Amino acid sequence: AVKENEPERMPPPPSAKSRRKSVAPQESNRSNKRVSSVMKPFDTQPKKGKFGETSRPNQKFYEMIQDFRETLEITPLTTTDPIEPHKICVCVRKRPLNKQEINKKEIDVVSVPGRGALLVHEPKHKVDLTKYLENQVFHFDYSFDETATNELVYKFTAKPLVLSIFQGCMATCFAYGQTGSGKTHTMGGDFTGRQQNSAKGIYALAAQDVFTHLNNRKYANLDLCVYVSFFEIYNGKVFDLLNKKAKLRVLEDDRQQVQVVGLEEVCVSSAEDVIKIIQIGSACRTSGQTSANANSSRSHAVLQIVLRRSDRAATLHGKFSLVDLAGNERGTDVSSNDRSTLVETAEINRSLLALKECIRSLGRNSDHIPFRMSTLTKVLRDSFIGEKSRTCMIAMVSPGMASCEYTMNTLRYADRVKELNASSKAIE
Ligand code: ADP
Ligand code: MG
Repeated sequence: AVKENEPERMPPPPSAKSRRKSVAPQESNRSNKRVSSVMKPFDTQPKKGKFGETSRPNQKFYEMIQDFRETLEITPLTTTDPIEPHKICVCVRKRPLNKQEINKKEIDVVSVPGRGALLVHEPKHKVDLTKYLENQVFHFDYSFDETATNELVYKFTAKPLVLSIFQGCMATCFAYGQTGSGKTHTMGGDFTGRQQNSAKGIYALAAQDVFTHLNNRKYANLDLCVYVSFFEIYNGKVFDLLNKKAKLRVLEDDRQQVQVVGLEEVCVSSAEDVIKIIQIGSACRTSGQTSANANSSRSHAVLQIVLRRSDRAATLHGKFSLVDLAGNERGTDVSSNDRSTLVETAEINRSLLALKECIRSLGRNSDHIPFRMSTLTKVLRDSFIGEKSRTCMIAMVSPGMASCEYTMNTLRYADRVKELNASSKAIE
């Protein structure tokens, strides 16, 4: 396949396919929220350097995007913006270009003007090879630009869900996106070098708020206890991250109650306890991996914060499941035609499809929740039913031009998760 960041002085030969085809399975463009597609006219030749070369690969596209950005009115989300209650909330977060990408002079093709909007400036070639941008606009409940901190993202996404579990809700928060887009950074915390600062991730921020609410007089008479479990779903199988990756069985009884048999549920009494558990579980998750791109990007990690009454049966009061999903990139790489990789990819695709369908069913208040389609949706079954379910999906995108098609796949998926309030998504 022709690389997208091919220097522009070497246009692909007309015979070759100049663009990879989108690799998402049947993610049709039915979306009515991807509202406009503005084309900018092609203008003069790019500026040439001393030796006739352009100053960076795709300089022309870079300039076109810069020109377009100048026309945008930018009002980023701030901590003082109102937080609206949502049963289903879908957001997008753009990470900054990383050092490697900056060194490669990678172009940032994503703009976040604010108010939930996000644009992808898709570089395209006409048949005569002239360059143009297709500026795709998406609208979500919130959009976070590259300057947003985990704290800001948390405030608008998971924070309202923490409160909901005290009111008896079953809440879920998902980090979705391609590998390297920032899912673990958002959920698990900042990394500096090889060290993870777990205290700054959504997991830990949620845990802190759980204990703040627990000490609130309003909930004191409920006599609640907090428990934590942490597990991984890989190839449809559940592994306990708090018990040396013990493989666990998922059983469904005749009342459709799903149980993960033998899952460790640790009783915790402070946010620090939870942070310790996150560190233990995260270390367990990545242990025994040979490369950076190993299993952890091919598995879903689920951290559950469970509120139980202090009665004899430890009655369930509310539950918050925070999920760092497997990378959504599709296995189109021909070099990976190894069987186990194909099986893995098929399983990931199936579970992400199931997840989307379950959230959509929740949005429709449908009686039929297709939770049996995957292990992920099976273990989260009680989070998709009834009035007491709340969910938030944070779609993560990488800003680079090389990730453009993956970014588009991620945004189309997120767009389809919630399509009910199409009327509020006005054309710009
Ligand atoms: P994923 O879990 O989606 O594969 P990671 O969370 O591991 O991706 O992120 C990939 C790299 O990018 C990490 O080095 C991470 O620290 C960095 N990163 C991700 N999001 C951000 C962000 N918002 N700000 C700064 N660095 C980020
Ligand atoms: Mg990750």
